Amino acid sequence: MTYELPTSGQRIRFQRPDLPSLNEVAPHWEAARSAHWYSNGGPVLAAFSSAIERYLGSDLHAVPVNNATSGLMVALRALCGTGRGATVLMPSYTFAATATAAVWAGFTPAFVDVSEDHWHADPAMLQEAVERETPAALLLCSTYGVAPPRATVRSWSAIAEHANIPLIVDSAAGFGSRDECGNRLGGQADAEVFSFHATKPFAIGEGGLVTTRDPDIAVELRRAANFGFHNDRIVRSGVGMNAKMDDLHAAIGLAVLDRFDEVLKRRQGYGSRLSDAFSAAGLSPQPGMSAGAVQFLPLLCKTKEQRSRLLASADRRAIELRTYFSDPLHSMPAFSRYRKTTPLPVTESLAARIACLPIYSDMSAGVLGRIEQLSTDIQ
Ligand SMILES: *Cc1c(COP(=O)(O)O)cnc(C)c1O
Repeated sequence: MTYELPTSGQRIRFQRPDLPSLNEVAPHWEAARSAHWYSNGGPVLAAFSSAIERYLGSDLHAVPVNNATSGLMVALRALCGTGRGATVLMPSYTFAATATAAVWAGFTPAFVDVSEDHWHADPAMLQEAVERETPAALLLCSTYGVAPPRATVRSWSAIAEHANIPLIVDSAAGFGSRDECGNRLGGQADAEVFSFHATKPFAIGEGGLVTTRDPDIAVELRRAANFGFHNDRIVRSGVGMNAKMDDLHAAIGLAVLDRFDEVLKRRQGYGSRLSDAFSAAGLSPQPGMSAGAVQFLPLLCKTKEQRSRLLASADRRAIELRTYFSDPLHSMPAFSRYRKTTPLPVTESLAARIACLPIYSDMSAGVLGRIEQLSTDIQ
């Protein structure tokens, strides 16, 4: 059977997901078939969880889930119980799912600003907001999947600890990213959440992961992702949901892991090459980008006008750019009713000037060259 694909001509798409072939997946999938066990923690899921734990190191517990949005909901419920409308502090400069998950789990978002030094939540603003808002949790982000500076994460943890509330970090695009000490993300918080969506660097279709260092939290996470069941299949305190990853997605995950190091190296190479090319025009990458998993390449233009010229020139040259995270959440109709804990000038300034370039796992010299041409249009 053949499928008609939309003809996009020579257009360079913003994303071009590249999942493993069924031949690569088949050997991993076989264990589920021969055991006749396809979900509820079948043999492939167990193998995938262990492989992820080995890959991340640092004694992390890995809880695979069906996507990062439900991973965030599960993390909030496992760590804070039912929300009853309690406040969760989060950046506005993030993807809609961060706030969506909090609302679905029963919490009320309140927005904090990010720092212009690194584009992650600003610890000083966070400290003030915690004192004023008495939130139930901090839901912060590794913005664009890039590791925040270690000192920033230490401040987030200290603030959460002092307020006696959990710290959850949405690192959705950051599976495989390393921090300045060379550690892979996963141990930054009480629970950290990753996405394995088709458009993320570690792509299996729909999928996600929650990590924690704490074995007791891991038990709560698994329970929240499995209807709230205890071992005797009784639901006691918290109702859970069905956020389980099935064994077929776990088999795809094992096949992705087989070649992930090489994929990361290539994506980082493309990210550095393109960010160098655009530096002559005054565009700057996010600090830490080159050790990130590089889902795409956000570059900060000098002015809003320069971004308009870049977008117009990309349009002429049939290259698809995006402007994540514009609109920021506090400007979106569904979220504008939620409180801004302070004005959000850095969020607004980034949102007005950001432009994201395409990054794929495998980019030809021709495609890279065409994207680089844009930088000469805007000098
Ligand atoms: C992609 C993304 C999500 C959502 O991930 P899904 O697996 O698609 O649910 C959540 N937060 C951020 C910051 C993201 O980039």
